[in-house]
Amino acid sequence: MLNSSQIKEIRRFCAGEAEVALVPTMGALHRGHLSLVEAAREAVGAKGKVVVSIFVNPTQFNNTEDYQHYPNTLEADLKLCEEAGVDLVFLPTPEEMYAPKASVSLREHTLSRGLCGATREGHFDGVCTVVAKLFNIVQPQFAVFGRKDFQQLAIVRKMVSDLNFPVEIIGAPTVRESNGLALSSRNLRLSETARKEATLIYASLNLANEKLRSGGIAIAEVYPYFEAQLSNAKTFSNIDYLELIDAENLQPVDDLTGRMILACAVFFENVRLIDHILIDPIANE
Ligand code: AMP
Repeated sequence: MLNSSQIKEIRRFCAGEAEVALVPTMGALHRGHLSLVEAAREAVGAKGKVVVSIFVNPTQFNNTEDYQHYPNTLEADLKLCEEAGVDLVFLPTPEEMYAPKASVSLREHTLSRGLCGATREGHFDGVCTVVAKLFNIVQPQFAVFGRKDFQQLAIVRKMVSDLNFPVEIIGAPTVRESNGLALSSRNLRLSETARKEATLIYASLNLANEKLRSGGIAIAEVYPYFEAQLSNAKTFSNIDYLELIDAENLQPVDDLTGRMILACAVFFENVRLIDHILIDPIANE
């Protein structure tokens, strides 16, 4: 396995390869990321090249503290990539990625307005810009993203379609601990207690879904129900959002038809965690 922080070396390695799959990450790798690597390998086959990028992209953080405290486990990450059969790891510095006088960036105008975009000003513009740059550097035929970040996945798909990137986007399922907690690099910042209590997120999403389906609560009651469940945890601080949205256009829904997502971002010990569940049409049951 090779690794490089240099754009020109990455270009040299990838140029002329028939099948390249890219897995963009911010490092602190876990089994969730490795499942993306597996999907990438499946897409390109044994002869293709799997490229992982590890870059904590400053332009997608609107909170300096979150950026500065983002976990860094580079040595372990490289070992995991090697063991997973990755061919190349791209490890750019911010200086390598952003020229001091760079003045062109991307902006998404619709899907990024709500949910994580509502409180993370500029976040998805930073994501689009860095992903477009990575696509231009690596020129992959495939790129794999986790469905855990479903809004990011929807926006990347839209970017690829709107800007005609010749890349096939693969969405990979969310990998969870056996207790239901979605794996996330940010979990490393949680105390042991918070890590246990944060299992309430997924459990409460599922409970709220069951209540909704059985008619036990109305859509307007989902938020207080969810909040009451999480309030049982000492380390829970607040809800950023909890929304029932249409799975395609990510707009809030006011009746239970079509494919929906119940999505949340919540804070445990100042660490922002996101999760969601897919809700299949109740009307068709
Ligand atoms: P990150 O390093 O958090 O930016 O994530 C890099 C990629 O891994 C993104 O496409 C995420 O959606 C994906 N990812 C993060 N956590 C998980 C998980 N638990 N299961 C599957 N994919 C994940």
